[in-house]
Amino acid sequence: MADDNTGRSSSGVRWLFIGGTGLFVLVLLCGGGLYWFYTSSQAEVEQVVNAFQTQLDAENYAAAYQAIGPEWKLINSQADFTELESTIFSQLGKLQSKTMFSFNVNEATSGGTAYIIYNCTFEKGQGQVKYSLTSSTGTWRIVGHHVESPAMIKVLACPSCGEVMSDLVKFCSECGTKMNR
Ligand SMILES: [Zn+2]
Repeated sequence: MADDNTGRSSSGVRWLFIGGTGLFVLVLLCGGGLYWFYTSSQAEVEQVVNAFQTQLDAENYAAAYQAIGPEWKLINSQADFTELESTIFSQLGKLQSKTMFSFNVNEATSGGTAYIIYNCTFEKGQGQVKYSLTSSTGTWRIVGHHVESPAMIKVLACPSCGEVMSDLVKFCSECGTKMNR
């Protein structure tokens, strides 16, 4: 009787131990999988952003427009896009260096969204640049490019009332004056 109980309890302990290890390994595998997924998304996003920024630095707006996502193309024609990006370029110049500030990714089976922010040094000043991306067919595409920099103030401040716009707009949202470009 005593032997049976000991046997049963020790096998019970062994089972629990194996179960516990199995759970640990499973959690470790899931964690590893998530980590792999996260880093591979980040590498893909960084690659797309670098290619886009290289085209902007070369003032190759046609190629840059070609590569952006359909969501952005719906809002801006190629002419709008070229005006927007060439305005940013005229104020900041070429990108000299960048360090990543943050990266966020959200993926579902229907598609994903990602935001990557860099602290950048341009020829004409410092700035923080945010790129928004979406993925619907497994390919990341840029759908937003937002630059915050004191070097942009000349084209963001209304020449009439002085109000600073949060985006490059054609007319002042306060007084309707045509903005400097
Ligand atoms: Zn104004």
